[in-house]
Amino acid sequence: MKLPVLSETTRALETCGYCPKLCRAQCPVSNAEPRDSLTPWGKMTLAWLAERGDVPSDLGHADVVWGCSGCFACRNACEHDNPVVPTLLAARQHVRDRAAAPAGVERLLARHAKRSKWVTERVARASRRLALSERAERALLIGCGYWLYEPELAFKLSAALQKLVGDFKLVAECCGAVHAGAGDTLGLAVQRQRTQLALAGVSELLVYDPGCAMAVAHDAVRTVVEVVADSLGELSPMPARLAAIGPLRYHDPCQLGRGLGIYDAPRRVLERLAGHPVAEFRHRRREARCSGAGALLPQSFAEAANGIARQRVAEHDELGGGTIVTACSQSLRQLRRAGADVVDFAALVAEGVTPK
Ligand code: SF4
Ligand code: SF4
Repeated sequence: MKLPVLSETTRALETCGYCPKLCRAQCPVSNAEPRDSLTPWGKMTLAWLAERGDVPSDLGHADVVWGCSGCFACRNACEHDNPVVPTLLAARQHVRDRAAAPAGVERLLARHAKRSKWVTERVARASRRLALSERAERALLIGCGYWLYEPELAFKLSAALQKLVGDFKLVAECCGAVHAGAGDTLGLAVQRQRTQLALAGVSELLVYDPGCAMAVAHDAVRTVVEVVADSLGELSPMPARLAAIGPLRYHDPCQLGRGLGIYDAPRRVLERLAGHPVAEFRHRRREARCSGAGALLPQSFAEAANGIARQRVAEHDELGGGTIVTACSQSLRQLRRAGADVVDFAALVAEGVTPK
């Protein structure tokens, strides 16, 4: 069976299909699970063959389109700046429309309604505790990953931002990244509508989780990391407190770094709080290596995702260990699962914001 709608992305697919795999060494997934079909070339070529009807687009042949963490590292080596991530996300929709996503992805989708309900309840409770106005023109989207797994941290970040920027309303709707990563065409369309409704009348949208900042459709998105970096004077240095959990080593989340191009802002904030520049991974900024957490890789290729995280933690240990700081809910959980001490950027900011 062909994937006819994929013809919209034919050019990107062909570009990879005819390429001598220039980006092969960049891909964390095929590095963790060495298979030709998991290289960027392999994943794109398989989607291309499915588009042409040369291989079946059932899950047994096409699940490799989920073998991508959305890290954008292949772009570093690509002379064509080929859009691998959006092309593979589009391919996921077409494969899922004809078969199903990997079992772990389907399980996540099945839990989505319950997860959304929990997020809505927690956001409502936090809004009441902080006496936030429903009618504020500024909104704050922290990200479902934080409200689900780090609700107290999400609350503390909201309180800190209230001190820094004043009033806003909290957004409980999902940015749509879960549906996009799953290849859930209908769910994505419905979620986009719900988010659009929730953001009606919002003139500025602050977003913390960088995956949400990449996924959400709004004209005036500002990342929380940048907002905080623009308010350095409001942060109290706490070198003794951080020395106790340090040394701190900053991990560039792929969506914040290669995705949004934000490298200096988090480092400026951490330097202000620690009183000195924080430690770095060998590969950092544009060359930073993925944690393995993105684009539902832990739900589709769990072994590869865990292997990638273990590589990051091994490098961290080789460099002297300490505590990793990251600014992405999925990286936070994935690196912790791999055994590292990890603290979220938001937790440090919440502690550092000077009480008024
Ligand atoms: S992403 Fe670029 S370098 Fe990698 S296989 Fe495709 S065209 Fe080649
Ligand atoms: S975005 Fe990252 S995980 Fe996906 S194919 Fe490119 S290098 Fe591999």
